[in-house]
Amino acid sequence: MDQSSQDNSPLFQTYARAPLAFERGEGVWLESRDGRRFLDLSGGIAVNLLGHAHPHLVEALKAQAEKLWHTSNLFEIPGQTRLAERLIENTFADKAFFTNSGAEALECAIKTARRYHYVSGHPERYRIITFEGAFHGRTLATIAAGGQAKYLEGFGPKVEGFDQLRFGDHEALRLAATGSEVAAILIEPIQGEGGIRGVPPQCLVGLRQLCDEHGILLIYDEVQTGVGRTGRFYAYEHSGAAPDIMASAKGIGGGFPMGVCLATNEAAKGMTAGTHGTTYGGNPLAMAVGNAVLDVVLAEGFLEEVRRKALLFKQSLASLADRFPDVIESIRGEGLLIGLKMHVPNTRMIAALRDAGVVAAPAGDNVVRLLPPLTITVEEIRLAMERIESAAADLSAPLQRASA
Ligand SMILES: *Cc1c(COP(=O)(O)O)cnc(C)c1O
Repeated sequence: MDQSSQDNSPLFQTYARAPLAFERGEGVWLESRDGRRFLDLSGGIAVNLLGHAHPHLVEALKAQAEKLWHTSNLFEIPGQTRLAERLIENTFADKAFFTNSGAEALECAIKTARRYHYVSGHPERYRIITFEGAFHGRTLATIAAGGQAKYLEGFGPKVEGFDQLRFGDHEALRLAATGSEVAAILIEPIQGEGGIRGVPPQCLVGLRQLCDEHGILLIYDEVQTGVGRTGRFYAYEHSGAAPDIMASAKGIGGGFPMGVCLATNEAAKGMTAGTHGTTYGGNPLAMAVGNAVLDVVLAEGFLEEVRRKALLFKQSLASLADRFPDVIESIRGEGLLIGLKMHVPNTRMIAALRDAGVVAAPAGDNVVRLLPPLTITVEEIRLAMERIESAAADLSAPLQRASA
């Protein structure tokens, strides 16, 4: 995009957008305004969990739209109670607070942890330990939690009370956990924006033990990994180490903006009437769609099928990486949260994929992220593989010619 058209834009220039606009979507397919069809393997950055225009979600949204949109949380919202009950039934949690986004779910998680210690007689315990490369959102508290300089720069003093440790530095973690001001440890079971970097399951088990030893609350950020994305309802199930508090968003609304903070009764004990609130969070429209998403994801055999398809996709990608080692270094991730660690710049691969008719998302650590809908078929995975192969070949050929 040239400078003049940027200057003419009515929008904040906070995004370097691709010069491409979409008109409609169906399942894994996206159609651009100029009529081109793309396989969408980015899912609006892990949001369109069940693809575009899933009939069950469309039906739920339409039906609710004709009844009631918004009443505020001053009244009971039956869809909210129902969705909370279903989340609780299928996770570690006893209580839920609904939000409109991931960052707000994290804000609630952070406040819940601090408030727990406050009502336990330890107001001095407010610090949250986080990890380098993490991403927790763009509010003032969540950029402090993520701790990345590029997101903090120019926005005034960093919100106090967040301490980043190096990813995988067990020694530093054990030392930090002895601090008398520590309220919680906040971690993504698999870093999403950070480059699909997974925490080994035994490390999550160790983290759980460490928290129990020191009376620290364990918070998982499952905004990206939750609701079946990794082949389990929540990614922590791969380790068996449950948190005290968890943030979920993105896929949980299947494209409708919503999030949730989940907690045990004990961890949520400080969140009493008047301590927290939201105008829109948990509104009837969002709850109708959230319940419809769970109808699909929690159906008998659905997640098993996701794991089966994910294995096929990852095996095919691994064999592609073997054939184009000058382009793709390795394959990472769990379930249908897949990362291609690149040799060539990830931005070049994403452009080549787009030319081949595939939409993918970048991530840190020079990774290309593939987040297909959980409903992708084996046939669509084969087609995606053909296109990914053609993109890899495009990037490989000049290199091979140069070395010949
Ligand atoms: C996207 C994301 C967030 C922030 O969610 P928003 O809805 O953009 O506020 C937080 N944590 C993780 C792990 C995410 O992937």
